[in-house]
Amino acid sequence: MQREEWTLEEKVEVLERRVAVLERILRISQILTSTLQLEPLLQTIAQSATELTDTAASSIMLVDKNTGELHFETVSGSKREEVKRVTVPLDGSIAGWIVREGKPLLIPDVRQDPRFYAQVDETTDFETRSILGVPLQVRGKVIGVLEALNKMGDGIFTQDDIHTLSTLAAHAAIAIENARLVTEIQKAYEELSELDRLKSEFVAIASHELQTPLTVILGYASFLKKETTGAASEQVDAVLQSALRLRSLINDMINLRHIETGEAELELEQLSLNELSTTITAEFASLAEAKKQSVTIQLASQPPMVEADRQKLHLVLANLLSNAIKFTPEGGRIQVEVETKGNEVRVSVRDTGIGIPPREQERIFDRFYQVEPSLTRRFEGMGLGLSIAKGMIELHGGRIWVESLEGMGSSFTFALPLVE
Ligand code: ADP
Repeated sequence: MQREEWTLEEKVEVLERRVAVLERILRISQILTSTLQLEPLLQTIAQSATELTDTAASSIMLVDKNTGELHFETVSGSKREEVKRVTVPLDGSIAGWIVREGKPLLIPDVRQDPRFYAQVDETTDFETRSILGVPLQVRGKVIGVLEALNKMGDGIFTQDDIHTLSTLAAHAAIAIENARLVTEIQKAYEELSELDRLKSEFVAIASHELQTPLTVILGYASFLKKETTGAASEQVDAVLQSALRLRSLINDMINLRHIETGEAELELEQLSLNELSTTITAEFASLAEAKKQSVTIQLASQPPMVEADRQKLHLVLANLLSNAIKFTPEGGRIQVEVETKGNEVRVSVRDTGIGIPPREQERIFDRFYQVEPSLTRRFEGMGLGLSIAKGMIELHGGRIWVESLEGMGSSFTFALPLVE
């Protein structure tokens, strides 16, 4: 019967059937988009394809991203495991043709088609008679093929079947791609976590092993310094200073490890941030003087008391001040300010230094992160100071952040809860 001759009732019937199929595909699509694991997802797709096209079985083949080969991934039915990962040649197979052409293909009788690849039937004891195959496409790229096998009833696939299977394939392809992406991201994340673990382990072992010889060097250098005079004394002093610097680097690594493993413990006491900031700023006076920098301090009018670990806050403020001095050219200005704001106290260290580009401002608090690439950098350091500062402040239930304009200067601030 030609389309033109269809009665209104017949047209309505066809449309109703299509709407019913689309409703089912929509429901299936909801299930597909909520399944992020590839294996169950493929099963659902294969089952749905069989149901929707009223066929005996269906199968899914996917193109391997690396080799470009086409592999059987799943078939509905009991012989699932046997066909898994069977390779289907791209040349001389129906699925291969669909991948190459990116178009559906209907084969009413496979025995008459030279492209039929019989090997899978031999493996599964399933006798394929007819095939309807459609490409699984994402953004114009064929990622696989969905096939429905052996139409039930009169055994003849219709235009509606092609339409239905193609619609299902469009939803299925996106769901498959998403599931693969999730798997890839999970894998990459696991690899990164492993690398991170190895790095932490290395840092732990290295810092621990370096401690003992360093203690010996420091011991003898201090002893020799007392014993020697003149030029030799200067040389011993250089050894001592370098050893002290090495100790502070090792301490950074140990501190970081303690924060990471949750081993860092707070020895809390009530202390005034006015007093602590004054003490530490004074400690850095000679370092700033050597670079002809001015250091000023502005204190809160009422001594702001916090419940904190003195040594750890000392470390935080020392890191901020040494960075300010390091990243500010000669003659620059550094300002420390303590102020209370609501129920917290804020300590800021401002400088007129090189500043930090906006895109780097979050990352500088990451471990080992430095704005300048390590091999060409002008400033010494390991990129640990700020991550330690952040860890220590967060241990105290506080926050730390930076505001900065490139070429103009930076302002680092930490806030801690005030003790009433
Ligand atoms: P380090 O100082 O050892 O490199 P930090 O963790 O203390 O490590 O700092 C990380 C990076 O943040 C520094 O390498 C630098 O690029 C940037 N930075 C920190 N403080 C300042 C500052 N006051 N001015 C400009 N850049 C800074």
